[in-house]
Amino acid sequence: MKCKTRRRKKPPCIVWITLLLSFSVLGAAGGTLASVMLTDPGSESSEDSVTGRQKEIHPETDENASGKGSEEEAESGNIDTAGSEEWELILVNSTHPIPEDYEVTLTLLSNGRQVDSRIYPELQEMFDDCRAAGYQLFVREGYRTHEDQQQLMDERIQAYRDEGYSQEEAERLAKQWVAVPGTSEHELGIAVDINADTSISSSEEVYGWLEQNSFRYGFILRYPADKTEITGISNEPWHFRYVGKEAASEIYEEGLCLEEYLGL
Ligand SMILES: [Zn+2]
Repeated sequence: MKCKTRRRKKPPCIVWITLLLSFSVLGAAGGTLASVMLTDPGSESSEDSVTGRQKEIHPETDENASGKGSEEEAESGNIDTAGSEEWELILVNSTHPIPEDYEVTLTLLSNGRQVDSRIYPELQEMFDDCRAAGYQLFVREGYRTHEDQQQLMDERIQAYRDEGYSQEEAERLAKQWVAVPGTSEHELGIAVDINADTSISSSEEVYGWLEQNSFRYGFILRYPADKTEITGISNEPWHFRYVGKEAASEIYEEGLCLEEYLGL
């Protein structure tokens, strides 16, 4: 699964066409699509609740120059997590899709990315401390809607089709790089892809600091290089997943991946 792909906005009509196509293709699974769509903050009422402090989280370099000083607002996706016990330990992978009734309240970050509001304070703290250590970083990718994920998949399949592969082969190849919609942690809102601002820090510096320190803030390196057989995902040094400080510490200290920690 590649997580570095930047999300692109489609005009609403195209989104709906895509959704309609998805409904017709997926048939019974359409219900899942519909319920997930409700989590799209764009379709829900919003309210301001967070200060512009989140601007500090990820000054995306290309936005810094022009976006400086603009007032930031937090946006609530109106979403509450039902059955919030141990929400931070929910497992989502190719064999554990996101529950149909999953809900999330989102905080809008300064560069347009969104994360589950519950992870925001510790994410901010982690960024503050990483910066204090001399590195510069930003959230490349946070929450994705189901339709975002579907779009990523569709684009990847089309790219293979354009190379001459059959539909079946293109789908098989695409799934090696993109999580099937409904099975990406990005649809939870508690996973982030973090990149270095390479004008100041190297990727190795930032990834290294995060790998060594993220557990202090409740985050884990979700797809380590030595756990690909278990996670089914290739090494992704940029993908960090919130699990809470207690679990993160144990996972870090014992060198586990989330599947192992959960006894799966
Ligand atoms: Zn990711």
